[in-house]
Amino acid sequence: MSDQVYKIIPKSPYTKVSKDKLNTAKSFIESAVTCDCVDLEVTDNPEFIDCGSNLVNITCPKCGKEISLDWWNDAMDIACEDDFKKLDITLPCCGETSSLNDLRYDFKCGFACCSINVTNPETLIDDDETLIESVQKILDCDINVIIAHY
Ligand SMILES: [Zn+2]
Repeated sequence: MSDQVYKIIPKSPYTKVSKDKLNTAKSFIESAVTCDCVDLEVTDNPEFIDCGSNLVNITCPKCGKEISLDWWNDAMDIACEDDFKKLDITLPCCGETSSLNDLRYDFKCGFACCSINVTNPETLIDDDETLIESVQKILDCDINVIIAHY
């Protein structure tokens, strides 16, 4: 059986959220959403938060051209060697500078030091503005929702 995992992450890759706030958000989501489980992931440095098999393509945020997965994999390897502390890149298509975090991933992906993973929720979390606002208040930062399929 396949799983749909909604990953709630801070908008900025470098935002650190305290364990207390993450646990409060976890409890809140558990009480507000019917789902299989809610898990927390916390890392010292940003990690790539992927959308699983939902990833269709990656395009340039500056000129809109599609970015090859080969180029992206190489750029990810280089950034990974330094634990994703630096996400700066020079775009292969137009030569502009950007960040691995700012590439247009379809579906959305991102980088974050923490993630609240909600597995198989019965409602579309990303469409629930009240829920998103409440979680943003608890975490005290703006959030993104990455929808992953496995
Ligand atoms: Zn470009």
